[in-house]
Amino acid sequence: GNANLYALLAAGFPADRAAVAIETPTRSYSWNDIEEISARYGNLLQALELPAGARIAVQVEKSPEALMLYLASVRAGLVYLPLNTAYRESEVEYFLADAEPAVVVCDSANQEWVDRLAEKTGTANVYTLDSDGTGSLAVAAASQPGEFVTVRSLPDDLAAILYTSGTTGRSKGAMLSHRNLSSNAEVLHKYWGWRPDDVLLHMLPIFHVHGLFVASHGALLAGARMIWLPRLDIEQALHYLPRSTVMMGVPTYYVRLLNDARFTRQLCANMRLFISGSAPLLKETFDEFKARIGQPILERYGMSETIMLTSNPYDSSLGERIGGTVGQPLPGVMVRVVDDAEHELGVGEIGSVQVRGSNVFSGYWRMPEKTREEFTSDGWFRTGDVGRWGGDSVPANYLSIVGRSKDLIISGGFNVYPKEIELLIDDIPGVDESAVIGVAHPDFGEAVVAVVVPKAGAKLDADAMMADLKSRLANFKVPKRIYFTDQLPRNTMGKVQKNVLRDQYV
Ligand code: ATP
Ligand code: MG
Repeated sequence: GNANLYALLAAGFPADRAAVAIETPTRSYSWNDIEEISARYGNLLQALELPAGARIAVQVEKSPEALMLYLASVRAGLVYLPLNTAYRESEVEYFLADAEPAVVVCDSANQEWVDRLAEKTGTANVYTLDSDGTGSLAVAAASQPGEFVTVRSLPDDLAAILYTSGTTGRSKGAMLSHRNLSSNAEVLHKYWGWRPDDVLLHMLPIFHVHGLFVASHGALLAGARMIWLPRLDIEQALHYLPRSTVMMGVPTYYVRLLNDARFTRQLCANMRLFISGSAPLLKETFDEFKARIGQPILERYGMSETIMLTSNPYDSSLGERIGGTVGQPLPGVMVRVVDDAEHELGVGEIGSVQVRGSNVFSGYWRMPEKTREEFTSDGWFRTGDVGRWGGDSVPANYLSIVGRSKDLIISGGFNVYPKEIELLIDDIPGVDESAVIGVAHPDFGEAVVAVVVPKAGAKLDADAMMADLKSRLANFKVPKRIYFTDQLPRNTMGKVQKNVLRDQYV
């Protein structure tokens, strides 16, 4: 067979190609449209006669056409490279210089500076694609045939380069193959019980693994309809939830929905699955959601380099969904927790999370050194996350993510895991959320510092909080200082940027 990812996805399309595949507030697209438009774009790309492995960099607002452009790139055997729409000229310059794409597709509003960058980096082909589907790409593709024979790909051929979110430093390009994407799509299809009559409420950006791969592949492979919204808009979400069956979001989506009294159990009566990922979901949010909506959010864990790794169970015969954990390794994915000497740790012990499986990427784009560092000699990928199996009243086969190894604080020679302290601080009345970081300290190497966001109207006293924590934590874990702020710095995926905090509170 053909290992091209599109061949797998298209096998899931329904027999009735005239049925609605994608619905937006103003338009709908059939399965025929998906095939036809991606074919026109595919023919356009193929006519450029690009060499194997050529990259197509895309920085456009979310639209159904943008998804079809992704599918066209896959069908044509090119390497798709989506870019966060928040990136400005100097940031995009880094990505174009690093990836040297043969084609760049941008929003017409940015064309002037994109042209300038393309000239600098020697990219010959620049097209525009706007959120309404118009632009020079559509014009050029209009005369192309609406049929396209998906190229034959080998399992290890690259399908995409996904730049990591840059939460811990400079973004790295994760090289993902057709096999990586296909194997994960198939596993999730089964594990989450995707059905042709599902309706996915798609409100995530599509420049990231969550919205582009996990969500879109899920619906496409199931032949299920997507309701396609540019972002989380509470009014729109409340409008579409009664007709939806599956929703995926980053934790802040759930926090914001719960802040609205109209988000109720009745409203969600048709929903069978709420999925959260990309950042840790607070146990408090998990509990509040379960109490209000009557079903537990399913939290899963993954990253650009590996797509999805673990998931709380969908099927209750595999166990319960446990708040504060990221569930069990997905079928075919191997996960281990090790100490610094790479020895596997026992249940409840905290260590580095390492993984392997056909979903794991082959390396970082043009970073052979970094790639070598992040794989062990026996082929395990070092995720950079710190975690543990089981723990108090959590079964041994459930993984919890405790934090990132880069955020680990070493104070006076002792390891401090910020999450442990954040959980206690978050429980203090009047605290909305918190972030614990390490800052340089002359005696201890690093000192623990907490940055706290009070709830609206709450009056918090730093000294009283420190005294409270002192009675519950070993001295080296107690924050030496507590700072208050209105909000924590987050990137577009809702991740707290601790490197920004560390710079701010040195
Ligand atoms: P960079 O690698 O550039 O610093 P990043 O790691 O944030 O950025 P992504 O690949 O987008 O870039 O995110 C993957 C990371 O997100 C994981 O390594 C993990 O730290 C975090 N993550 C994803 N899902 C969860 C989850 N359910 N709970 C906790 N953390 C999660
Ligand atoms: Mg990362």
